[in-house]
Amino acid sequence: MPGRLLQNGHMPKLMTGIFALLLAFQLSSCRAPEEHRAEYFVFGTLVEVIVRESDEQDAARAFNDLQQRFQAMHRDWHAWEPGALTRINRAFSQGRPATVPAGIETLIRRSQELEILTGGRFNAALGAMIELWGFHRSEFPVHAPVPAAQAIQLLLDAAPSAADIVIDDGMVYSANPAVQLDFGAIAKGYAVDLALEILADHGIENALVNAGGDLKASGGSPERPWTVGIRGLAGSVIGGVEITATEAVFTSGVDQRFLEHNGERYPHILDPSTGLPVTGVASVTVIAREALLADVAATALIVAGRDSWVEVARALGLKDILLIDDRGEIYLTAAMNERLILAPGSKPELNIVN
Ligand code: AMP
Ligand code: MG
Repeated sequence: MPGRLLQNGHMPKLMTGIFALLLAFQLSSCRAPEEHRAEYFVFGTLVEVIVRESDEQDAARAFNDLQQRFQAMHRDWHAWEPGALTRINRAFSQGRPATVPAGIETLIRRSQELEILTGGRFNAALGAMIELWGFHRSEFPVHAPVPAAQAIQLLLDAAPSAADIVIDDGMVYSANPAVQLDFGAIAKGYAVDLALEILADHGIENALVNAGGDLKASGGSPERPWTVGIRGLAGSVIGGVEITATEAVFTSGVDQRFLEHNGERYPHILDPSTGLPVTGVASVTVIAREALLADVAATALIVAGRDSWVEVARALGLKDILLIDDRGEIYLTAAMNERLILAPGSKPELNIVN
């Protein structure tokens, strides 16, 4: 049996090995009588789906559909488990064209667009560099020496970019053999967007999809909003926001997945311009209408760091952002500050940025 929804992306040890397979899905109406819930273990995390104002049979059909679709997404988009993406990456490294499923084609197109908008801070073609750091795995922390500077430089010189990929009539090709797609910073967001679309296809318009603390909700109202937590450092919760329209809340942080060597921690998010793990920022939370964008932006703004996050957020057209730096200082946009409901008794010092 799955545990209750775990906040802040923490997974019990037992579950982390199971990866990919649906753990269980169950209908229940435990808390609010008209809510139905399902839980899935997919994308290396527990995904909880809650629907409101739906009868039990519609919800059951939708949950069944979601189970199939989540499994297909996981299989197709995984960066190292054999599937459609590893097949395409192999073709890229051998200079061959490959057929591309529709979902991956969308992920490539959006990655191309967002690489440009983030000034290269988000780069989905960075798979080889991520693998070099040992981050193609589900168990963290990684205990290994840092990669050799020469190996990093070799990949930097090869300059992989999603712009190297040509899409033509259901086929993809990369002129640059160093391109290896890794959708680690975009796939979960896209999956969450699709999950809400799938629910809507079943007539369910009032729902929340929570993938290990990264979530999207629709159908809330001022009378009955979806209330979700905004994460702070080390699993703490700074406060919450109310969601009354269709919106996603995604957080990227450096405290869960990292390589540890000689007492130093090297987080799993890399700066594409140096090939090195990011420093200076502990976490970024982004609210956006689209989960895919919120997911990418949270990662890209960590790379952007204290100096450039405002500029990159503007380029992405985002206004609700909260950033915590490595000293625990909290920076947030005025728009985010306006909607942040602080946890009772919590009085953090907030630096409001315009
Ligand atoms: P997240 O934890 O959502 O910020 O996503 C981080 C994941 O995205 C990592 O585990 C890598 O697979 C991948 N990644 C790391 N750095 C980057 C980057 N600069 N651009 C795109 N993807 C990245
Ligand atoms: Mg993310």
